[in-house]
Amino acid sequence: MIKQLYKQFVSERTRNNVRIRLRKAVSPFYSGDKYFCNCCDRSFRKFLSKGNVKRSNAQCPNCGSLERTRILNFYLENETSLFKNDLKVLHVAPEDCLFKILKKLDIEYVDGDINEANATHLIDLTEIPYSDNYFDLIICSHVLGHIPDEARAIREMKRVLKEDGTALVMTLIDLNSEITFEDKSVNSDQQRLLKYGESDLCRLHGLDFDQRLKSEGFKVEKINYTEKLPKEYAERYQLGDGSRELIFRCTKI
Ligand SMILES: [Zn+2]
Repeated sequence: MIKQLYKQFVSERTRNNVRIRLRKAVSPFYSGDKYFCNCCDRSFRKFLSKGNVKRSNAQCPNCGSLERTRILNFYLENETSLFKNDLKVLHVAPEDCLFKILKKLDIEYVDGDINEANATHLIDLTEIPYSDNYFDLIICSHVLGHIPDEARAIREMKRVLKEDGTALVMTLIDLNSEITFEDKSVNSDQQRLLKYGESDLCRLHGLDFDQRLKSEGFKVEKINYTEKLPKEYAERYQLGDGSRELIFRCTKI
Protein backbone atom coordinates (compact mmCIF):
# COMPACT_ATOMS: atom_id res chain seq x y z
CA MET A 1 0.00 0.00 0.00
CA ILE A 2 2.71 2.48 1.05
CA LYS A 3 4.80 1.36 -1.92
CA GLN A 4 1.87 1.98 -4.29
CA LEU A 5 1.22 5.47 -2.86
CA TYR A 6 4.93 6.29 -3.12
CA LYS A 7 4.89 5.23 -6.78
CA GLN A 8 1.70 7.18 -7.46
CA PHE A 9 2.67 10.48 -5.89
CA VAL A 10 6.44 10.66 -6.32
CA SER A 11 7.81 11.16 -9.82
CA GLU A 12 10.07 8.50 -11.30
CA ARG A 13 12.95 10.94 -11.58
CA THR A 14 12.66 11.73 -7.86
CA ARG A 15 12.41 8.04 -7.01
CA ASN A 16 15.57 7.41 -9.05
CA ASN A 17 17.37 10.15 -7.11
CA VAL A 18 16.17 8.76 -3.78
CA ARG A 19 17.39 5.29 -4.78
CA ILE A 20 20.84 6.69 -5.67
CA ARG A 21 21.07 8.68 -2.40
CA LEU A 22 20.09 5.65 -0.32
CA ARG A 23 22.70 3.51 -2.06
CA LYS A 24 25.37 6.14 -1.50
CA ALA A 25 24.32 6.44 2.16
CA VAL A 26 25.14 2.77 2.78
CA SER A 27 28.35 2.99 0.75
CA PRO A 28 30.64 3.71 3.78
CA PHE A 29 29.53 0.40 5.34
CA TYR A 30 31.05 -1.41 2.37
CA SER A 31 34.44 0.27 2.50
CA GLY A 32 37.41 -2.06 2.17
CA ASP A 33 40.11 -3.16 -0.26
CA LYS A 34 39.01 -6.47 -1.71
CA TYR A 35 37.09 -5.23 -4.74
CA PHE A 36 37.59 -2.23 -6.97
CA CYS A 37 35.23 -0.24 -9.19
CA ASN A 38 36.87 1.18 -12.31
CA CYS A 39 33.91 3.50 -12.92
CA CYS A 40 34.38 5.57 -9.75
CA ASP A 41 37.89 4.45 -8.75
CA ARG A 42 36.90 3.29 -5.27
CA SER A 43 37.49 0.04 -3.42
CA PHE A 44 35.11 -1.98 -1.25
CA ARG A 45 35.01 -5.05 0.95
CA LYS A 46 32.12 -6.21 -1.22
CA PHE A 47 29.62 -4.98 -3.78
CA LEU A 48 25.84 -4.93 -3.36
CA SER A 49 23.52 -7.71 -4.55
CA LYS A 50 21.45 -6.87 -7.63
CA GLY A 51 18.77 -8.23 -9.96
CA ASN A 52 15.30 -9.78 -9.92
CA VAL A 53 17.14 -13.01 -9.32
CA LYS A 54 19.77 -11.69 -6.91
CA ARG A 55 23.37 -11.74 -8.04
CA SER A 56 25.67 -11.32 -5.07
CA ASN A 57 28.59 -8.92 -5.22
CA ALA A 58 27.29 -7.15 -8.33
CA GLN A 59 26.68 -3.42 -7.85
CA CYS A 60 29.11 -0.72 -6.76
CA PRO A 61 27.63 0.92 -3.64
CA ASN A 62 29.05 4.29 -4.64
CA CYS A 63 28.36 4.79 -8.35
CA GLY A 64 25.96 1.92 -9.06
CA SER A 65 28.09 0.24 -11.73
CA LEU A 66 27.29 -3.39 -12.49
CA GLU A 67 29.51 -6.18 -13.80
CA ARG A 68 28.60 -5.24 -17.39
CA THR A 69 29.22 -1.52 -16.81
CA ARG A 70 32.69 -2.16 -15.46
CA ILE A 71 33.65 -4.39 -18.40
CA LEU A 72 32.19 -1.87 -20.86
CA ASN A 73 34.12 0.95 -19.22
CA PHE A 74 37.34 -1.04 -19.57
CA TYR A 75 36.54 -1.61 -23.23
CA LEU A 76 35.69 2.05 -23.89
CA GLU A 77 38.92 3.19 -22.24
CA ASN A 78 41.22 0.65 -23.85
CA GLU A 79 39.72 -0.06 -27.27
CA THR A 80 37.96 3.09 -28.50
CA SER A 81 39.04 6.65 -29.26
CA LEU A 82 36.23 7.98 -27.08
CA PHE A 83 38.59 9.57 -24.58
CA LYS A 84 40.83 11.07 -27.27
CA ASN A 85 38.68 12.28 -30.16
CA ASP A 86 35.71 14.57 -30.59
CA LEU A 87 33.04 11.99 -31.42
CA LYS A 88 29.29 12.04 -31.81
CA VAL A 89 27.98 9.51 -29.32
CA LEU A 90 24.51 8.13 -28.72
CA HIS A 91 24.16 6.45 -25.33
CA VAL A 92 20.87 4.59 -25.09
CA ALA A 93 19.31 4.00 -21.65
CA PRO A 94 22.38 5.56 -20.02
CA GLU A 95 23.76 3.95 -16.91
CA ASP A 96 24.19 6.70 -14.34
CA CYS A 97 27.86 5.95 -13.65
CA LEU A 98 28.82 5.89 -17.35
CA PHE A 99 26.71 8.97 -18.03
CA LYS A 100 28.77 10.90 -15.46
CA ILE A 101 32.04 9.79 -17.10
CA LEU A 102 30.97 10.48 -20.69
CA LYS A 103 29.21 13.76 -19.97
CA LYS A 104 32.55 15.28 -18.92
CA LEU A 105 34.25 14.45 -22.23
CA ASP A 106 34.70 16.92 -25.03
CA ILE A 107 32.31 15.10 -27.34
CA GLU A 108 28.80 15.54 -28.74
CA TYR A 109 27.08 13.30 -26.23
CA VAL A 110 23.42 12.37 -26.61
CA ASP A 111 21.92 10.28 -23.83
CA GLY A 112 18.42 9.07 -24.56
CA ASP A 113 15.73 6.80 -23.22
CA ILE A 114 12.12 5.88 -24.02
CA ASN A 115 11.38 7.01 -20.45
CA GLU A 116 12.15 10.71 -20.01
CA ALA A 117 12.84 10.17 -16.30
CA ASN A 118 15.95 8.18 -17.19
CA ALA A 119 17.82 10.45 -19.60
CA THR A 120 18.23 13.96 -20.97
CA HIS A 121 16.57 13.16 -24.29
CA LEU A 122 13.39 11.25 -24.98
CA ILE A 123 14.43 8.74 -27.65
CA ASP A 124 12.51 5.80 -29.04
CA LEU A 125 15.13 3.42 -30.40
CA THR A 126 12.72 2.25 -33.10
CA GLU A 127 12.44 5.83 -34.37
CA ILE A 128 15.67 7.64 -33.57
CA PRO A 129 15.20 11.39 -34.21
CA TYR A 130 18.54 11.88 -35.98
CA SER A 131 19.58 11.89 -39.62
CA ASP A 132 21.29 9.02 -41.42
CA ASN A 133 25.00 8.43 -40.75
CA TYR A 134 25.11 10.82 -37.77
CA PHE A 135 26.83 9.03 -34.87
CA ASP A 136 30.41 7.75 -34.58
CA LEU A 137 29.54 5.55 -31.63
CA ILE A 138 26.36 4.06 -30.22
CA ILE A 139 26.30 2.44 -26.79
CA CYS A 140 23.27 0.23 -26.32
CA SER A 141 23.60 -2.00 -23.29
CA HIS A 142 20.75 -4.22 -22.11
CA VAL A 143 18.09 -2.45 -24.14
CA LEU A 144 17.16 -4.64 -27.13
CA GLY A 145 15.67 -7.42 -24.99
CA HIS A 146 13.10 -4.92 -23.72
CA ILE A 147 11.95 -3.67 -27.13
CA PRO A 148 9.01 -5.49 -28.78
CA ASP A 149 10.17 -4.66 -32.35
CA GLU A 150 13.85 -5.44 -31.84
CA ALA A 151 14.62 -5.76 -35.57
CA ARG A 152 13.39 -2.22 -36.23
CA ALA A 153 15.54 -0.86 -33.38
CA ILE A 154 18.61 -2.58 -34.84
CA ARG A 155 17.87 -1.14 -38.30
CA GLU A 156 17.47 2.33 -36.78
CA MET A 157 20.83 2.09 -35.02
CA LYS A 158 22.39 1.06 -38.31
CA ARG A 159 20.72 3.96 -40.11
CA VAL A 160 22.02 6.69 -37.76
CA LEU A 161 25.51 5.18 -37.49
CA LYS A 162 28.24 6.65 -39.71
CA GLU A 163 29.68 4.38 -42.39
CA ASP A 164 32.83 3.91 -40.30
CA GLY A 165 31.01 4.09 -36.95
CA THR A 166 30.63 1.46 -34.26
CA ALA A 167 27.69 0.30 -32.18
CA LEU A 168 28.48 -1.53 -28.97
CA VAL A 169 25.56 -3.75 -28.01
CA MET A 170 25.16 -5.86 -24.89
CA THR A 171 22.27 -8.00 -23.66
CA LEU A 172 21.34 -10.78 -21.26
CA ILE A 173 22.12 -14.11 -22.93
CA ASP A 174 21.17 -17.63 -21.96
CA LEU A 175 24.56 -19.22 -22.59
CA ASN A 176 22.94 -22.67 -22.61
CA SER A 177 20.51 -21.90 -25.41
CA GLU A 178 21.42 -21.86 -29.09
CA ILE A 179 18.39 -19.77 -29.94
CA THR A 180 16.55 -16.76 -28.57
CA PHE A 181 13.42 -17.63 -26.62
CA GLU A 182 10.31 -15.51 -27.06
CA ASP A 183 6.77 -16.51 -26.12
CA LYS A 184 4.06 -14.10 -27.29
CA SER A 185 1.61 -15.49 -24.72
CA VAL A 186 3.74 -14.18 -21.85
CA ASN A 187 1.98 -11.07 -20.58
CA SER A 188 2.75 -10.48 -16.91
CA ASP A 189 5.80 -9.40 -14.96
CA GLN A 190 5.70 -12.67 -13.04
CA GLN A 191 5.65 -14.74 -16.24
CA ARG A 192 8.42 -12.66 -17.78
CA LEU A 193 10.55 -13.16 -14.69
CA LEU A 194 9.93 -16.89 -14.80
CA LYS A 195 10.52 -17.32 -18.54
CA TYR A 196 13.13 -14.65 -19.27
CA GLY A 197 14.88 -14.10 -15.92
CA GLU A 198 13.88 -10.42 -15.68
CA SER A 199 10.40 -9.02 -15.19
CA ASP A 200 10.57 -6.43 -18.00
CA LEU A 201 12.14 -8.42 -20.82
CA CYS A 202 10.32 -9.28 -24.06
CA ARG A 203 12.62 -12.22 -24.82
CA LEU A 204 15.68 -14.04 -23.56
CA HIS A 205 18.46 -13.92 -26.08
CA GLY A 206 20.41 -17.05 -26.90
CA LEU A 207 23.72 -17.71 -28.60
CA ASP A 208 22.14 -16.58 -31.88
CA PHE A 209 22.13 -12.95 -30.73
CA ASP A 210 24.93 -12.01 -33.13
CA GLN A 211 22.90 -13.53 -35.98
CA ARG A 212 19.95 -11.32 -35.07
CA LEU A 213 22.19 -8.27 -35.42
CA LYS A 214 23.70 -9.60 -38.64
CA SER A 215 20.31 -10.30 -40.17
CA GLU A 216 19.55 -6.55 -40.03
CA GLY A 217 22.74 -5.72 -41.92
CA PHE A 218 25.44 -5.26 -39.28
CA LYS A 219 28.85 -6.89 -39.32
CA VAL A 220 29.33 -8.27 -35.83
CA GLU A 221 32.30 -9.19 -33.69
CA LYS A 222 31.48 -10.98 -30.42
CA ILE A 223 33.94 -9.92 -27.73
CA ASN A 224 34.51 -11.54 -24.35
CA TYR A 225 36.60 -8.67 -23.05
CA THR A 226 37.20 -10.25 -19.64
CA GLU A 227 39.49 -12.70 -21.46
CA LYS A 228 41.60 -9.82 -22.79
CA LEU A 229 42.22 -8.36 -19.34
CA PRO A 230 44.67 -9.65 -16.70
CA LYS A 231 43.28 -12.82 -15.11
CA GLU A 232 42.91 -11.35 -11.63
CA TYR A 233 40.61 -8.60 -12.91
CA ALA A 234 37.60 -10.94 -13.12
CA GLU A 235 37.62 -11.32 -9.34
CA ARG A 236 39.00 -7.92 -8.36
CA TYR A 237 36.46 -5.97 -10.44
CA GLN A 238 33.69 -8.61 -10.37
CA LEU A 239 33.20 -8.81 -14.13
CA GLY A 240 30.37 -11.35 -14.19
CA ASP A 241 29.88 -14.79 -15.72
CA GLY A 242 29.56 -13.71 -19.36
CA SER A 243 25.77 -13.91 -19.56
CA ARG A 244 25.44 -10.12 -19.38
CA GLU A 245 28.91 -8.93 -20.30
CA LEU A 246 29.63 -10.02 -23.88
CA ILE A 247 30.18 -7.03 -26.14
CA PHE A 248 28.80 -7.22 -29.67
CA ARG A 249 30.76 -4.78 -31.77
CA CYS A 250 28.62 -3.82 -34.75
CA THR A 251 29.87 -2.02 -37.84
CA LYS A 252 28.49 -1.24 -41.28
CA ILE A 253 31.59 -2.06 -43.29
ZN1 LIG B 1 31.74 2.63 -8.60
